[in-house]
Parts: sequence; C-alpha cells; structure tokens
Amino acid sequence: MTHPSTPVPARRTSELVESTIRGLTVYAASKGAVNLGQGSPDIPPPAAVVEAAHRALREGAHQYVPTWGLPALREAIAAKTRRFYDLAYDPDLETTVTCGVTEAVISALLGVVDRGDEVAILEPAHENYHAGVVFAGATPVWVPIRPPEHRFDPDELTRALARPKVRAVIFNSPHNPSGRVFGRDELAAIADACVEHDVVAISDEIYEHMTYDGREHVPIATLPDMRERTITISGLSKSYAATGWRVGWAHAPSALSEALRKVHDFTTICAPSPLQVASVTAMELPASYYDELRAWYRERRDRTVRMLRDAGFDADPPEGAYYLMAGIDGPARAAGLDPGDDAAFARWLIDELGVGTVPGTSFYRSDPDLGRGTVRVAFPKSDATLDEVERRLAPLRG
Ligand code: PLP
Repeated sequence: MTHPSTPVPARRTSELVESTIRGLTVYAASKGAVNLGQGSPDIPPPAAVVEAAHRALREGAHQYVPTWGLPALREAIAAKTRRFYDLAYDPDLETTVTCGVTEAVISALLGVVDRGDEVAILEPAHENYHAGVVFAGATPVWVPIRPPEHRFDPDELTRALARPKVRAVIFNSPHNPSGRVFGRDELAAIADACVEHDVVAISDEIYEHMTYDGREHVPIATLPDMRERTITISGLSKSYAATGWRVGWAHAPSALSEALRKVHDFTTICAPSPLQVASVTAMELPASYYDELRAWYRERRDRTVRMLRDAGFDADPPEGAYYLMAGIDGPARAAGLDPGDDAAFARWLIDELGVGTVPGTSFYRSDPDLGRGTVRVAFPKSDATLDEVERRLAPLRG
C-alpha cells in the first residue's frame, strides 16, 4: 500500500523568503499601528482619473484589449515620455503596458536572461528583482549602495558587469529606500560598463516624478548608446497614487520589447482594460499636476524629517522618492534597546508606540550590516496620518 505523500514545492520557491515588509505590515495592522513601513499612498488618485475609470466601466471597457496595451494608452505613454525626456519610442513596437512595474520587471528579466546567466542588482532593491532573477534560473550579483551617502562604488559596479555571465543590471532611481536620485556621474558609470560589457540595463523609474530641491530625474536611456540597450520601466502606482490599479509599462527597443512581450502575453494577457482607458487621462494631465505632486511630497518629506528629528532619530531629507532611512541610535538608547538591533526596535515601535517602519538590515542581501541601526520610513501620507504619527511619537521627545 502506498502512503499519500506531501507535495514538494519547486526548489525555486525555497530561494524566495517572505517579504519582511509584508510580514511587518500584517503585524502592524494586527496591533492597530499607523504603518509608515509600506510605501502605499493613503490619498486617492486624481479625481479626473477616477472619473475616467467610472466612465470606462459604464461605457463597456470590460473585455481584453490588445496584449501589448490599449493602443491609445501606448500612444499616450510614449507621448508623455517624449514630452518629459525627449525620448522617442514607437508605441506599436517599443512600448508595452503591463500589470504594474512588478510584472514589467519580471517580463523584462525573463525576456532577456537565460538559465545560468547572472544579473547585477544594485541593492537595496525592490524585492521582486531577486524573485525575477530566480524565476529566470539566473543568479544575482549584488552591488551595494552604501550608507551614509547611499552611493555605489563605480569600480565594484564595473567589476560586477565585467563578469562574463552577467547579462543585465537592474536598478532604481529615484531610489527606494534611500531617497537618492542618481546623478549623471553615477548613471554614466552604469552606462559605460553596460556598453563596454554588452549588458542590458533594466531601469525602474517608478518614482520619476518625485525629486526635490531642483534635482532632475535622468532616464539612463538618454545617455549616449543607452537607448538601444535599456528597458525603461515605470507605472501608475506612485505618480498617480494608484498602487491597486496594476498598470505599468516598459519602453525598450523593438528586439527587447518583442522578448518581454512574449512573457507578458503568456502570463497576464493584459492589464485591466477599464483602468487602461482611465490611464490615458493620467498620461494627459498637465505639467502643473507634477509640480503640485512634487510640492505635496516635499512638504511631507520636510514634516517627516522634522518629526523624526524631534523624536531623536537621525534623519536627513531624501533627494527623491518618498522614503528615508532614519538612524535609530537616539530613540533605541532612550528606550533601553540595542541600537544595532533594528528588527527589535521596529517591533518595539509597533508594540509600544503604534508606528510601523521597516528594519534597515532587511534591505541588504550582500551584507545586512549595511542597513544596521536604521529603519525605513515611508511618507506618502495624508496630514491626518502624519498628525497621528506625531502624537504617537511624542513619548520619544525629550
Ligand atoms: N519598484 C519599486 C522601486 C517600488 O518601490 C515599488 C513599490 O513599492 C514597485 C516597483 C512596485 O510597483 P508596481 O505597484 O507598479 O508593481
């Protein structure tokens, strides 16, 4: 008689660990904490965009659209990219609408990386970069972005890209979680190494519109010789406060687009049709929308830095995106905790003060010590949420 056995999951899944951020989000919710751990805005998308979604549903946009994306949306995305960066993509062949940046990243990696290849990942990195590399049967080569300046070492990067098996490099600027905006010198270091060693750049530019103090976001595809070897990815989640819509896109030269489109087609077919229709309205918002967005986030950034400093954290204003890494030395010592144990501190902050953050050590695979003694704080939050956080942090004020 045979005994029923427990099904064994695929080995690739064992390489993927549960997201610390997701785990802490669940924990923070169970404790009724205000969560500054997850980068999810608590404001609605622009009213005109929401209204366009209502209209699309009423008017019958319920069925599949062409797998590469609604033609009107691809045209609107390509037009916006041209308007902001003077970068031209053919919407028919070079622009693909995906289910968020997450799916664009997975499709890009599966489209360009073979089993046994290596992929350089600038870390801290969004968790799905590693997952995509694992799904592709490839191996990550971690290149750390080091505190306190949160810069990578160009020599280390060049050495990584010179490895014979490295096919692609993936990175994100404006950067989650450090808030760095890569300067032209840093982008040139990546570009030079890509060109020299024939590496594809996968550039996650989801925070493209969040830069402060006059800083400029520069797409790496605008650098010499980079358009033909870059997959530029962005989406609706952050710039339009619509993380649940699952609409993103990838611009890439036609051969790379063709490759990632195959993965996209056979995994998701298409992003939600009514939301693609409404996304056209988002793409057509005037320049003033982005000015107001930047101003709104800058105000939140400044308030968050002030609030954290008042509570004894070491916090510098980030250059872009809506996160910062805050040093916990002061508040951890005040609470009688080990300032080197950011995971314990993050739990304490939830348990005792009801505020969720993410421990810095969870962001570095190559060397968790690089994040030690810090927590990530996300500030895409309404005044009411920040008022509440300020009230909850009051016991830490001297
Ligand atoms: N990339 C980065 C750098 C992010 O911070 C996030 C969300 O936090 C994502 C991608 C996910 O984007 P999407 O919601 O479009 O899948």
